[in-house]
Amino acid sequence: MNAPATSIRFFNTLTRRKETFTPIEPGKVRMYTCGPTVYDYAHIGNFRAFLFEDLLKRWLEYRGYTVTHVMNITDVDDKTIRGAKKQQIPLEQYTAHYTNAFFEDIKALNIKPANHYPKATNHIPEMIALIETLIQKGYAYKASDNSVYYAIKKFKNYGKLSHIKIQTLKKGARVKTDEYDKEEAQDFALWKAWTPEDGDVFWETPLGKGRPGWHIECSAMSMRYLGETFDIHCGGVDNIFPHHENEIAQSEAATGKKFVNYWLHNEHLLVDGKKMAKKFGNFYTLRDLLKRDFDPIAIRFLLLSTHYRAQLNFTFEGLDAARAAVERLRNFMRRLQDADGKGSGGKVAALVREAQACFSEAMDDDLNISVALGALFDFVREVNVLLDAGLVSRSEANEVAGFMQRLDGVLGVVGKMEKKEVLPKEAEELIGAREEARKARDWARADALRLKLREIGVIVEDTPQGVKWSLEKKR
Ligand code: AMP
Ligand code: ZN
Repeated sequence: MNAPATSIRFFNTLTRRKETFTPIEPGKVRMYTCGPTVYDYAHIGNFRAFLFEDLLKRWLEYRGYTVTHVMNITDVDDKTIRGAKKQQIPLEQYTAHYTNAFFEDIKALNIKPANHYPKATNHIPEMIALIETLIQKGYAYKASDNSVYYAIKKFKNYGKLSHIKIQTLKKGARVKTDEYDKEEAQDFALWKAWTPEDGDVFWETPLGKGRPGWHIECSAMSMRYLGETFDIHCGGVDNIFPHHENEIAQSEAATGKKFVNYWLHNEHLLVDGKKMAKKFGNFYTLRDLLKRDFDPIAIRFLLLSTHYRAQLNFTFEGLDAARAAVERLRNFMRRLQDADGKGSGGKVAALVREAQACFSEAMDDDLNISVALGALFDFVREVNVLLDAGLVSRSEANEVAGFMQRLDGVLGVVGKMEKKEVLPKEAEELIGAREEARKARDWARADALRLKLREIGVIVEDTPQGVKWSLEKKR
Protein backbone atom coordinates (compact mmCIF):
# COMPACT_ATOMS: atom_id res chain seq x y z
CA MET A 1 0.00 0.00 0.00
CA ASN A 2 2.39 2.70 1.19
CA ALA A 3 6.05 2.58 0.24
CA PRO A 4 8.27 1.73 3.22
CA ALA A 5 8.85 4.97 5.07
CA THR A 6 12.16 5.92 6.58
CA SER A 7 10.57 8.35 8.99
CA ILE A 8 9.51 5.89 11.68
CA ARG A 9 11.18 6.55 15.01
CA PHE A 10 11.35 4.22 17.98
CA PHE A 11 12.62 4.69 21.50
CA ASN A 12 15.46 2.21 21.75
CA THR A 13 16.07 0.94 25.29
CA LEU A 14 19.65 0.22 24.30
CA THR A 15 20.50 3.85 23.61
CA ARG A 16 17.75 5.45 25.69
CA ARG A 17 16.78 7.69 22.78
CA LYS A 18 14.36 7.85 19.91
CA GLU A 19 16.05 6.70 16.72
CA THR A 20 15.02 6.59 13.09
CA PHE A 21 14.15 3.03 12.23
CA THR A 22 16.27 1.54 9.46
CA PRO A 23 15.89 -2.18 8.91
CA ILE A 24 18.83 -4.39 8.01
CA GLU A 25 17.21 -5.41 4.74
CA PRO A 26 15.24 -2.66 2.98
CA GLY A 27 11.50 -3.21 3.15
CA LYS A 28 11.80 -6.16 5.53
CA VAL A 29 11.63 -6.35 9.30
CA ARG A 30 12.68 -9.29 11.45
CA MET A 31 11.26 -9.12 14.93
CA TYR A 32 11.25 -11.34 18.00
CA THR A 33 8.89 -10.94 20.89
CA CYS A 34 9.19 -12.93 24.10
CA GLY A 35 6.13 -15.14 24.28
CA PRO A 36 4.17 -16.58 27.16
CA THR A 37 5.46 -18.93 29.77
CA VAL A 38 2.71 -21.49 29.54
CA TYR A 39 2.32 -22.35 33.22
CA ASP A 40 -1.07 -20.67 33.63
CA TYR A 41 -3.59 -18.56 31.69
CA ALA A 42 -2.04 -15.28 30.57
CA HIS A 43 -3.38 -12.23 32.41
CA ILE A 44 -4.34 -8.98 30.72
CA GLY A 45 -1.02 -7.43 31.81
CA ASN A 46 0.70 -10.00 29.60
CA PHE A 47 -1.74 -9.13 26.86
CA ARG A 48 -0.78 -5.48 27.13
CA ALA A 49 2.67 -6.62 25.96
CA PHE A 50 1.29 -8.82 23.17
CA LEU A 51 -1.11 -6.10 22.01
CA PHE A 52 1.63 -3.47 21.90
CA GLU A 53 3.64 -5.87 19.74
CA ASP A 54 0.61 -6.46 17.54
CA LEU A 55 0.19 -2.71 17.07
CA LEU A 56 3.88 -2.35 16.25
CA LYS A 57 3.72 -5.10 13.67
CA ARG A 58 0.51 -3.78 12.11
CA TRP A 59 1.98 -0.30 11.89
CA LEU A 60 5.12 -1.56 10.16
CA GLU A 61 2.90 -3.49 7.74
CA TYR A 62 0.73 -0.42 7.13
CA ARG A 63 3.93 1.41 6.25
CA GLY A 64 4.67 -1.25 3.66
CA TYR A 65 7.21 -3.46 5.42
CA THR A 66 7.09 -7.23 5.25
CA VAL A 67 7.44 -8.38 8.83
CA THR A 68 8.76 -11.75 9.93
CA HIS A 69 7.57 -12.15 13.48
CA VAL A 70 8.72 -14.88 15.84
CA MET A 71 7.15 -15.42 19.24
CA ASN A 72 8.48 -18.24 21.37
CA ILE A 73 6.52 -20.42 23.73
CA THR A 74 8.40 -21.01 26.99
CA ASP A 75 7.27 -24.54 27.76
CA VAL A 76 10.10 -25.55 30.08
CA ASP A 77 11.36 -23.40 32.95
CA ASP A 78 11.15 -23.27 36.73
CA LYS A 79 7.45 -22.31 36.75
CA THR A 80 6.17 -24.86 34.22
CA ILE A 81 8.03 -27.69 35.98
CA ARG A 82 6.62 -26.65 39.33
CA GLY A 83 3.08 -26.48 37.90
CA ALA A 84 3.20 -29.89 36.21
CA LYS A 85 4.56 -31.45 39.36
CA LYS A 86 1.80 -29.96 41.46
CA GLN A 87 -0.84 -31.40 39.14
CA GLN A 88 1.09 -34.67 38.83
CA ILE A 89 0.87 -34.72 35.05
CA PRO A 90 3.62 -34.79 32.40
CA LEU A 91 5.11 -31.39 31.57
CA GLU A 92 3.99 -31.69 27.95
CA GLN A 93 0.37 -32.29 28.86
CA TYR A 94 0.44 -29.45 31.36
CA THR A 95 1.92 -26.89 28.97
CA ALA A 96 -0.21 -28.03 25.98
CA HIS A 97 -3.33 -26.96 27.86
CA TYR A 98 -2.05 -23.43 28.50
CA THR A 99 -0.54 -23.13 25.02
CA ASN A 100 -3.93 -23.88 23.44
CA ALA A 101 -5.60 -21.43 25.80
CA PHE A 102 -3.08 -18.78 24.76
CA PHE A 103 -3.90 -19.26 21.08
CA GLU A 104 -7.61 -18.99 21.83
CA ASP A 105 -7.02 -15.79 23.78
CA ILE A 106 -4.97 -14.07 21.09
CA LYS A 107 -7.63 -14.92 18.56
CA ALA A 108 -10.33 -13.38 20.77
CA LEU A 109 -8.21 -10.22 21.05
CA ASN A 110 -7.75 -10.09 17.27
CA ILE A 111 -3.96 -10.34 17.59
CA LYS A 112 -2.42 -11.23 14.24
CA PRO A 113 -0.58 -14.56 14.41
CA ALA A 114 3.22 -14.59 14.33
CA ASN A 115 5.03 -16.37 11.49
CA HIS A 116 6.63 -18.85 13.90
CA TYR A 117 5.80 -19.98 17.43
CA PRO A 118 8.86 -22.07 18.37
CA LYS A 119 8.58 -24.11 21.54
CA ALA A 120 11.62 -24.30 23.79
CA THR A 121 11.33 -28.09 24.13
CA ASN A 122 11.67 -28.44 20.34
CA HIS A 123 14.95 -26.51 20.23
CA ILE A 124 17.20 -28.17 22.80
CA PRO A 125 19.91 -29.05 20.20
CA GLU A 126 20.24 -25.36 19.19
CA MET A 127 20.60 -24.42 22.87
CA ILE A 128 23.26 -27.07 23.47
CA ALA A 129 25.22 -25.86 20.43
CA LEU A 130 25.09 -22.28 21.68
CA ILE A 131 26.24 -23.26 25.17
CA GLU A 132 29.07 -25.32 23.73
CA THR A 133 30.25 -22.32 21.72
CA LEU A 134 30.16 -20.19 24.87
CA ILE A 135 32.24 -22.78 26.76
CA GLN A 136 34.75 -22.96 23.91
CA LYS A 137 35.09 -19.19 23.81
CA GLY A 138 35.59 -19.01 27.57
CA TYR A 139 32.31 -17.29 28.46
CA ALA A 140 30.78 -20.27 30.20
CA TYR A 141 31.97 -22.89 32.65
CA LYS A 142 30.73 -26.01 34.37
CA ALA A 143 30.44 -25.53 38.13
CA SER A 144 30.74 -28.06 40.91
CA ASP A 145 26.97 -28.70 40.80
CA ASN A 146 27.44 -29.84 37.14
CA SER A 147 25.37 -26.95 35.85
CA VAL A 148 26.82 -24.62 33.22
CA TYR A 149 26.98 -20.92 34.10
CA TYR A 150 27.66 -17.77 32.12
CA ALA A 151 30.62 -15.77 33.49
CA ILE A 152 29.22 -12.25 33.29
CA LYS A 153 32.60 -10.61 34.08
CA LYS A 154 33.97 -12.04 30.81
CA PHE A 155 31.50 -10.11 28.69
CA LYS A 156 32.73 -6.55 28.80
CA ASN A 157 29.39 -5.11 27.70
CA TYR A 158 27.38 -6.84 30.41
CA GLY A 159 24.84 -4.29 31.65
CA LYS A 160 24.62 -2.25 28.43
CA LEU A 161 20.86 -2.69 28.13
CA SER A 162 19.79 -2.38 31.76
CA HIS A 163 22.64 -0.06 32.79
CA ILE A 164 23.50 -2.08 35.86
CA LYS A 165 26.95 -1.99 37.38
CA ILE A 166 28.55 -5.26 38.34
CA GLN A 167 31.67 -4.02 40.12
CA THR A 168 30.37 -5.32 43.39
CA LEU A 169 30.04 -8.86 42.10
CA LYS A 170 31.06 -11.40 44.70
CA LYS A 171 33.55 -13.98 43.49
CA GLY A 172 31.89 -17.29 42.73
CA ALA A 173 28.38 -15.94 43.30
CA ARG A 174 25.89 -17.70 41.05
CA VAL A 175 22.20 -17.77 40.44
CA LYS A 176 20.38 -20.82 39.21
CA THR A 177 16.79 -19.57 39.23
CA ASP A 178 15.39 -18.06 36.03
CA GLU A 179 14.18 -14.85 37.63
CA TYR A 180 16.15 -12.57 39.95
CA ASP A 181 16.63 -8.87 40.67
CA LYS A 182 19.31 -6.45 39.56
CA GLU A 183 20.88 -6.49 43.01
CA GLU A 184 21.52 -10.19 42.49
CA ALA A 185 23.35 -9.83 39.17
CA GLN A 186 25.53 -12.91 39.12
CA ASP A 187 26.75 -15.70 36.89
CA PHE A 188 23.52 -17.26 35.67
CA ALA A 189 22.61 -20.80 34.65
CA LEU A 190 22.69 -21.72 30.96
CA TRP A 191 22.22 -25.42 31.59
CA LYS A 192 20.77 -26.72 34.83
CA ALA A 193 22.00 -30.11 35.98
CA TRP A 194 19.16 -32.43 36.92
CA THR A 195 17.96 -32.39 40.53
CA PRO A 196 15.21 -34.56 42.03
CA GLU A 197 12.77 -31.59 41.93
CA ASP A 198 12.93 -31.76 38.12
CA GLY A 199 11.36 -35.24 38.18
CA ASP A 200 11.19 -36.63 34.66
CA VAL A 201 11.96 -33.32 32.99
CA PHE A 202 15.47 -33.70 31.64
CA TRP A 203 17.48 -34.20 28.45
CA GLU A 204 20.55 -36.44 28.18
CA THR A 205 23.07 -34.27 26.35
CA PRO A 206 26.83 -33.77 25.97
CA LEU A 207 26.46 -31.19 28.75
CA GLY A 208 25.03 -33.86 31.03
CA LYS A 209 21.55 -34.72 32.20
CA GLY A 210 19.55 -31.57 32.72
CA ARG A 211 17.49 -28.80 31.18
CA PRO A 212 18.08 -25.34 29.73
CA GLY A 213 17.87 -22.07 31.63
CA TRP A 214 15.18 -19.65 30.46
CA HIS A 215 17.51 -17.02 28.96
CA ILE A 216 19.36 -19.34 26.58
CA GLU A 217 16.02 -20.44 25.13
CA CYS A 218 15.29 -17.03 23.62
CA SER A 219 18.84 -16.52 22.27
CA ALA A 220 18.74 -19.90 20.55
CA MET A 221 15.25 -19.61 19.12
CA SER A 222 15.49 -16.01 17.94
CA MET A 223 18.77 -16.61 16.09
CA ARG A 224 17.50 -19.89 14.67
CA TYR A 225 14.61 -18.15 12.88
CA LEU A 226 15.87 -14.59 12.39
CA GLY A 227 19.65 -14.84 12.02
CA GLU A 228 22.50 -13.70 14.26
CA THR A 229 21.52 -10.03 13.95
CA PHE A 230 17.94 -8.93 13.55
CA ASP A 231 15.94 -5.71 13.72
CA ILE A 232 13.56 -5.58 16.67
CA HIS A 233 13.22 -7.38 20.00
CA CYS A 234 10.34 -6.63 22.35
CA GLY A 235 9.02 -7.50 25.78
CA GLY A 236 7.72 -5.85 28.93
CA VAL A 237 10.07 -3.65 30.97
CA ASP A 238 10.41 -6.43 33.54
CA ASN A 239 12.25 -8.40 30.84
CA ILE A 240 15.06 -5.83 30.49
CA PHE A 241 16.88 -7.36 33.42
CA PRO A 242 17.87 -10.11 33.66
CA HIS A 243 16.24 -11.76 30.64
CA HIS A 244 17.22 -9.47 27.78
CA GLU A 245 20.53 -8.45 29.32
CA ASN A 246 21.40 -12.13 29.43
CA GLU A 247 20.17 -12.75 25.89
CA ILE A 248 22.57 -10.07 24.65
CA ALA A 249 25.45 -11.49 26.67
CA GLN A 250 24.83 -15.01 25.36
CA SER A 251 24.21 -14.13 21.73
CA GLU A 252 26.89 -11.48 21.22
CA ALA A 253 29.57 -13.48 23.02
CA ALA A 254 28.80 -16.50 20.83
CA THR A 255 28.61 -14.74 17.45
CA GLY A 256 30.84 -11.70 17.97
CA LYS A 257 28.08 -9.68 16.26
CA LYS A 258 25.47 -7.23 17.42
CA PHE A 259 22.40 -9.25 18.42
CA VAL A 260 19.54 -6.76 17.98
CA ASN A 261 19.37 -3.22 16.60
CA TYR A 262 16.20 -1.93 18.32
CA TRP A 263 14.97 -2.97 21.76
CA LEU A 264 11.39 -1.90 22.50
CA HIS A 265 9.84 -2.40 25.93
CA ASN A 266 6.30 -1.79 27.06
CA GLU A 267 5.42 -0.41 30.46
CA HIS A 268 3.23 -2.32 32.84
CA LEU A 269 -0.46 -2.63 33.30
CA LEU A 270 -1.12 -1.73 36.92
CA VAL A 271 -3.90 -2.36 39.41
CA ASP A 272 -4.18 0.29 42.12
CA GLY A 273 -0.73 1.53 41.25
CA LYS A 274 0.94 -1.89 41.45
CA LYS A 275 2.13 -4.08 38.55
CA MET A 276 -0.49 -6.66 37.57
CA ALA A 277 1.22 -9.96 38.28
CA LYS A 278 0.43 -13.52 39.25
CA LYS A 279 2.65 -13.27 42.29
CA PHE A 280 0.69 -10.28 43.67
CA GLY A 281 -2.66 -11.98 43.06
CA ASN A 282 -4.03 -8.72 41.56
CA PHE A 283 -4.66 -10.01 38.06
CA TYR A 284 -7.51 -10.70 35.66
CA THR A 285 -7.11 -13.30 32.99
CA LEU A 286 -8.86 -12.62 29.70
CA ARG A 287 -11.10 -15.56 30.57
CA ASP A 288 -12.17 -13.93 33.85
CA LEU A 289 -13.36 -10.90 31.92
CA LEU A 290 -15.01 -12.79 29.06
CA LYS A 291 -16.98 -14.86 31.58
CA ARG A 292 -18.30 -11.57 32.90
CA ASP A 293 -19.43 -10.71 29.36
CA PHE A 294 -16.88 -8.03 28.60
CA ASP A 295 -16.19 -7.58 24.91
CA PRO A 296 -12.64 -8.74 24.04
CA ILE A 297 -12.40 -5.94 21.48
CA ALA A 298 -13.11 -3.35 24.18
CA ILE A 299 -10.27 -4.94 26.18
CA ARG A 300 -8.08 -4.75 23.08
CA PHE A 301 -8.91 -1.07 22.65
CA LEU A 302 -8.29 -0.30 26.32
CA LEU A 303 -4.87 -1.93 26.34
CA LEU A 304 -3.85 -0.35 23.03
CA SER A 305 -5.06 3.16 23.55
CA THR A 306 -2.39 4.27 26.03
CA HIS A 307 1.12 4.83 24.75
CA TYR A 308 3.12 1.65 25.28
CA ARG A 309 5.83 3.40 27.31
CA ALA A 310 3.35 4.86 29.81
CA GLN A 311 2.01 2.87 32.71
CA LEU A 312 -1.70 2.11 32.52
CA ASN A 313 -3.93 1.59 35.52
CA PHE A 314 -6.65 -0.97 34.88
CA THR A 315 -10.17 0.02 35.97
CA PHE A 316 -13.64 -1.11 34.95
CA GLU A 317 -14.56 2.53 34.22
CA GLY A 318 -11.68 2.58 31.74
CA LEU A 319 -13.02 -0.60 30.18
CA ASP A 320 -16.49 0.95 29.83
CA ALA A 321 -15.01 4.02 28.17
CA ALA A 322 -13.09 1.76 25.76
CA ARG A 323 -16.31 -0.07 24.87
CA ALA A 324 -18.04 3.24 24.21
CA ALA A 325 -15.15 4.39 21.99
CA VAL A 326 -15.31 1.22 19.88
CA GLU A 327 -19.08 1.59 19.62
CA ARG A 328 -18.62 5.17 18.40
CA LEU A 329 -16.40 3.96 15.57
CA ARG A 330 -18.83 1.20 14.64
CA ASN A 331 -21.83 3.53 14.70
CA PHE A 332 -19.95 5.91 12.46
CA MET A 333 -19.30 3.11 9.96
CA ARG A 334 -23.01 2.21 10.03
CA ARG A 335 -23.99 5.83 9.45
CA LEU A 336 -21.72 5.96 6.42
CA GLN A 337 -23.65 3.12 4.83
CA ASP A 338 -26.79 5.28 4.80
CA ALA A 339 -25.17 8.49 3.60
CA ASP A 340 -26.59 9.82 0.36
CA GLY A 341 -26.16 13.58 0.70
CA LYS A 342 -25.51 16.23 -1.90
CA GLY A 343 -21.73 16.39 -1.49
CA SER A 344 -19.45 18.52 0.64
CA GLY A 345 -17.58 20.34 -2.10
CA GLY A 346 -14.23 18.80 -1.21
CA LYS A 347 -14.55 19.17 2.58
CA VAL A 348 -14.66 15.42 3.19
CA ALA A 349 -11.58 14.77 1.06
CA ALA A 350 -9.68 17.49 2.95
CA LEU A 351 -10.67 15.98 6.30
CA VAL A 352 -9.50 12.52 5.17
CA ARG A 353 -6.16 13.96 4.04
CA GLU A 354 -5.66 15.81 7.30
CA ALA A 355 -6.65 12.85 9.50
CA GLN A 356 -4.44 10.49 7.52
CA ALA A 357 -1.46 12.83 7.89
CA CYS A 358 -1.98 13.38 11.64
CA PHE A 359 -2.55 9.69 12.35
CA SER A 360 0.54 8.63 10.41
CA GLU A 361 2.77 11.32 11.84
CA ALA A 362 1.79 10.34 15.37
CA MET A 363 2.25 6.61 14.80
CA ASP A 364 5.62 7.17 13.11
CA ASP A 365 6.66 8.98 16.27
CA ASP A 366 7.29 5.90 18.44
CA LEU A 367 3.68 4.68 18.03
CA ASN A 368 2.09 7.70 19.65
CA ILE A 369 -1.33 6.10 19.72
CA SER A 370 -3.00 8.68 21.97
CA VAL A 371 -2.33 11.48 19.47
CA ALA A 372 -3.25 9.19 16.55
CA LEU A 373 -6.58 8.26 18.17
CA GLY A 374 -7.21 11.91 19.00
CA ALA A 375 -6.90 12.73 15.29
CA LEU A 376 -9.20 9.83 14.40
CA PHE A 377 -11.96 10.84 16.81
CA ASP A 378 -11.73 14.50 15.73
CA PHE A 379 -12.20 13.29 12.18
CA VAL A 380 -15.24 11.19 13.13
CA ARG A 381 -16.79 14.19 14.89
CA GLU A 382 -16.25 16.51 11.95
CA VAL A 383 -17.61 14.07 9.37
CA ASN A 384 -20.61 13.46 11.65
CA VAL A 385 -21.38 17.18 11.49
CA LEU A 386 -21.35 16.99 7.68
CA LEU A 387 -23.53 13.86 7.80
CA ASP A 388 -26.03 15.67 10.04
CA ALA A 389 -26.23 18.43 7.47
CA GLY A 390 -26.81 15.92 4.64
CA LEU A 391 -23.60 17.00 2.95
CA VAL A 392 -21.84 13.64 2.51
CA SER A 393 -22.41 12.06 -0.89
CA ARG A 394 -22.39 8.34 -1.57
CA SER A 395 -18.92 8.42 -3.10
CA GLU A 396 -17.56 10.56 -0.26
CA ALA A 397 -19.02 8.12 2.26
CA ASN A 398 -17.25 5.31 0.42
CA GLU A 399 -13.99 7.21 0.55
CA VAL A 400 -14.36 7.75 4.31
CA ALA A 401 -15.29 4.09 4.86
CA GLY A 402 -12.23 2.98 2.89
CA PHE A 403 -10.00 5.23 4.97
CA MET A 404 -11.52 3.95 8.21
CA GLN A 405 -10.97 0.38 7.10
CA ARG A 406 -7.31 1.07 6.33
CA LEU A 407 -6.83 2.51 9.81
CA ASP A 408 -8.70 -0.42 11.26
CA GLY A 409 -6.09 -2.66 9.66
CA VAL A 410 -3.83 -1.08 12.30
CA LEU A 411 -6.25 -0.83 15.23
CA GLY A 412 -8.21 -4.04 14.63
CA VAL A 413 -11.30 -2.94 16.55
CA VAL A 414 -14.07 -2.25 14.04
CA GLY A 415 -13.91 -5.41 11.95
CA LYS A 416 -16.06 -6.19 8.96
CA MET A 417 -19.29 -4.26 8.95
CA GLU A 418 -22.29 -6.16 7.66
CA LYS A 419 -23.80 -4.33 4.72
CA LYS A 420 -27.13 -2.96 5.82
CA GLU A 421 -29.91 -4.29 3.61
CA VAL A 422 -31.88 -1.62 1.80
CA LEU A 423 -35.37 -2.37 0.52
CA PRO A 424 -35.98 -1.27 -3.09
CA LYS A 425 -38.72 1.37 -3.39
CA GLU A 426 -40.87 -0.89 -5.57
CA ALA A 427 -40.74 -3.60 -2.88
CA GLU A 428 -41.81 -1.15 -0.20
CA GLU A 429 -44.97 -0.41 -2.18
CA LEU A 430 -45.65 -4.13 -2.80
CA ILE A 431 -45.24 -4.93 0.90
CA GLY A 432 -47.67 -2.13 1.75
CA ALA A 433 -50.20 -3.45 -0.77
CA ARG A 434 -49.82 -6.98 0.58
CA GLU A 435 -50.52 -5.72 4.10
CA GLU A 436 -53.69 -4.07 2.85
CA ALA A 437 -54.75 -7.32 1.15
CA ARG A 438 -54.11 -9.28 4.34
CA LYS A 439 -56.16 -6.83 6.37
CA ALA A 440 -59.00 -7.27 3.87
CA ARG A 441 -58.51 -11.06 4.16
CA ASP A 442 -57.87 -11.19 0.41
CA TRP A 443 -55.46 -14.12 0.69
CA ALA A 444 -55.22 -14.75 -3.04
CA ARG A 445 -54.00 -11.21 -3.66
CA ALA A 446 -51.63 -11.37 -0.67
CA ASP A 447 -50.07 -14.56 -2.05
CA ALA A 448 -49.77 -13.11 -5.52
CA LEU A 449 -47.97 -10.09 -4.08
CA ARG A 450 -45.66 -12.36 -2.12
CA LEU A 451 -44.72 -14.11 -5.37
CA LYS A 452 -44.16 -10.79 -7.09
CA LEU A 453 -41.84 -9.73 -4.27
CA ARG A 454 -40.01 -13.02 -4.59
CA GLU A 455 -39.43 -12.31 -8.26
CA ILE A 456 -37.59 -9.11 -7.38
CA GLY A 457 -35.54 -10.91 -4.72
CA VAL A 458 -37.45 -9.94 -1.55
CA ILE A 459 -38.58 -12.64 0.84
CA VAL A 460 -41.45 -11.78 3.18
CA GLU A 461 -42.31 -13.65 6.30
CA ASP A 462 -45.32 -13.17 8.59
CA THR A 463 -44.25 -13.37 12.22
CA PRO A 464 -46.10 -12.66 15.50
CA GLN A 465 -44.12 -9.36 15.57
CA GLY A 466 -45.40 -8.41 12.12
CA VAL A 467 -44.07 -8.73 8.60
CA LYS A 468 -40.33 -9.33 8.25
CA TRP A 469 -38.46 -9.04 5.01
CA SER A 470 -35.02 -10.01 3.80
CA LEU A 471 -33.16 -9.85 0.52
CA GLU A 472 -32.36 -13.05 -1.26
CA LYS A 473 -28.62 -13.67 -0.92
CA LYS A 474 -26.75 -13.13 -4.16
CA ARG A 475 -24.29 -15.87 -4.94
P1 AMP B 1 5.62 -14.08 30.92
O1 AMP B 1 4.57 -15.03 30.44
O2 AMP B 1 5.62 -13.87 32.38
O3 AMP B 1 6.99 -14.43 30.37
O4 AMP B 1 5.25 -12.62 30.31
C1 AMP B 1 4.89 -12.39 28.97
C2 AMP B 1 5.04 -10.92 28.64
O5 AMP B 1 4.17 -10.11 29.44
C3 AMP B 1 6.43 -10.35 28.88
O6 AMP B 1 6.79 -9.52 27.80
C4 AMP B 1 6.28 -9.55 30.16
O7 AMP B 1 7.23 -8.52 30.26
C5 AMP B 1 4.88 -9.00 29.99
N1 AMP B 1 4.21 -8.57 31.24
C6 AMP B 1 4.10 -9.25 32.40
N2 AMP B 1 3.36 -8.56 33.31
C7 AMP B 1 2.97 -7.41 32.70
C8 AMP B 1 2.17 -6.28 33.10
N3 AMP B 1 1.61 -6.19 34.30
N4 AMP B 1 1.99 -5.29 32.20
C9 AMP B 1 2.55 -5.35 30.96
N5 AMP B 1 3.30 -6.39 30.51
C10 AMP B 1 3.51 -7.41 31.37
ZN1 ZN C 1 12.43 -14.23 25.98
